Amino acid sequence: MADAAQTSIRVVCRFRPLNSAEVARGDKYIPKFKGDDCVQIAGKPYYFDQVFQSNTTQEQFYNAVAQKIVRDVLEGYNGTIFAYGQTSSGKTHTMEGKLHDQDMMGIIPRIVQDIFNYIYSMDENLEFHIKVSYFEIYLDKIKDLLDSIPEEVMEAIDEGKNSRHVAVTNMNEHSSRSHSIFLINIKQENTQTEQKMTGKLYLVDLAGSEKVGKTGAEGTVLDEAKMINKSLSALGNVISALAEGSTYVPYRDSKMTRILQDSLGGNCRTTMVICCSPSSFNDAETRSTLLFGQRAK
Ligand code: ADP
Ligand code: MG
Repeated sequence: MADAAQTSIRVVCRFRPLNSAEVARGDKYIPKFKGDDCVQIAGKPYYFDQVFQSNTTQEQFYNAVAQKIVRDVLEGYNGTIFAYGQTSSGKTHTMEGKLHDQDMMGIIPRIVQDIFNYIYSMDENLEFHIKVSYFEIYLDKIKDLLDSIPEEVMEAIDEGKNSRHVAVTNMNEHSSRSHSIFLINIKQENTQTEQKMTGKLYLVDLAGSEKVGKTGAEGTVLDEAKMINKSLSALGNVISALAEGSTYVPYRDSKMTRILQDSLGGNCRTTMVICCSPSSFNDAETRSTLLFGQRAK
């Protein structure tokens, strides 16, 4: 397919399995999958570029969703992969997973492995410069999660994770109240021809999209929630403007969309992963998550 004909925004949806607490409570498993691009909730269909059922492995998900973007970034394109969904829907599982576990590792460590395998397979006239950044956006402010440029990328992720901002909500989960952004910058230079090429990839684990009421938030947590809602709706507006091909795209409405501006839409590779709980208990949140994803189509 020619580049011009390629849709610049892909939206995929992934359901996690019911967890043991949900099973113990007697929650029902609500999604019904129709083909590989449709999921039904209470008879209403939601369509995506691809829908992944609860038994999808980390490797299958990576191969279907992220592998191609890595190739493109190595060819000089910019890209962004987002994970969107309520707390405990599988965003961090999808983006990071278990870092040092071959089966359970998520997109970020697989991308890092893929990039290094690619570099080792290339001829020696190619020189690569890889720079990684890891930062979070909390209350619309940027906080760098790494003090210096790391030698070891996996260590960098571990280090960054430890300094992430978490608060406990009434959902009895450590809920992430900030957007975490992992950026990989790749510069290539052919030392014979002096040809240069740069590509960058943003990997974004968004803050939980749940409505404030359900978690009974107040004080700082309420401020956080308002800011999260604001920035997620700004992101939704940018994505749907891009998907509609609007001439005006409101990048400047939030810190995050401003930062990501040159890696969203246009010639960039943008993928939104819509993460969902399958439990009847989360029915309302799941529908609103699915609707957010549909706006991008
Ligand atoms: P979030 O980052 O959206 O808050 P997590 O990724 O932390 O959610 O997922 C919540 C829990 O569910 C974690 O214990 C995680 O390991 C588990 N989980 C999420 N997605 C899956 C999946 N696809 N398969 C198995 N377990 C999953
Ligand atoms: Mg998380």
